Amino acid sequence: MNYSLKPITSAREIRLGDADAGRPEDVPRGDELDEAIRHERKRLKKLQSVLYADGRYAVLVVLQGRDASGKDGTVRKVFRSVNPMGCEVTSFKAPTDIELEHDFLWRIHQRVPRRRLIGIFNRSHYEDVIVPRVRKLVPRKVWSARYDQINEFEKMLCVNAVVILKFFLHVSRDEQKKRLKERLEDRKKNWKFRAGDLDDRALWTEYTAAYREAIAKCSTKWAPWYIVPADDEDARDLLVSRTIADVLDDLDLGYPALNAELEGLKIE
Ligand code: ADP
Repeated sequence: MNYSLKPITSAREIRLGDADAGRPEDVPRGDELDEAIRHERKRLKKLQSVLYADGRYAVLVVLQGRDASGKDGTVRKVFRSVNPMGCEVTSFKAPTDIELEHDFLWRIHQRVPRRRLIGIFNRSHYEDVIVPRVRKLVPRKVWSARYDQINEFEKMLCVNAVVILKFFLHVSRDEQKKRLKERLEDRKKNWKFRAGDLDDRALWTEYTAAYREAIAKCSTKWAPWYIVPADDEDARDLLVSRTIADVLDDLDLGYPALNAELEGLKIE
């Protein structure tokens, strides 16, 4: 497959139109796609095992996207083969009263993975430059100062061996409509439907502007953003898993050798 996600390096590369959410041309289809996903899952499984043993890095995967963009499905499917002991998933909901009395990064920092682990953020500190802006919960001065604060925070994590990858799951209006309808109609999905999802859908353009600015201001060398065309779930899983596996591969991870004093030890 030729297609791989590229980190966003300039605002010009941020395309969030409906057509940009579709399955990219050169992502394979059918059996070939299934095989490619299986291949990436196997790679991730091996790489996670050596990440744990190597012990030098933590990996933080941030997932953002509109309602029904597939964040939960991505967690479930991309990390299916990985040892659960090596992963921590945190889903960030609307902040509690106590969380609101702290700085916005307080609850985030506590959930940053330690070395050896892959931490997955299902929503994240990026909500704090999206929701309060669109819903006018705090003054512009407050949310607009957060881009720099996020960049500094992520830089500090990077210097402390946290490898950060951020994925924006980009769905089109039609696909979101289809998925929200399913949540209303399918008994097993009813629980996922929130009336607020429709209010957010009505603010589509405002959310797009907020995501665009967050990605433009906070895609850095030390914590890049990737935009994932997410209308097709299988293509999405392939692209996300492949990107994570490629980044892990580049870390040159290895299994540590036996301590010198243990060499030659005999077990009776
Ligand atoms: P999800 O949609 O993630 O499965 P919920 O339906 O409980 O889970 O939605 C979580 C809600 O919390 C979303 O509407 C999201 O925008 C909101 N949220 C998360 N973090 C924040 C934040 N920092 N500020 C305001 N709202 C937030």
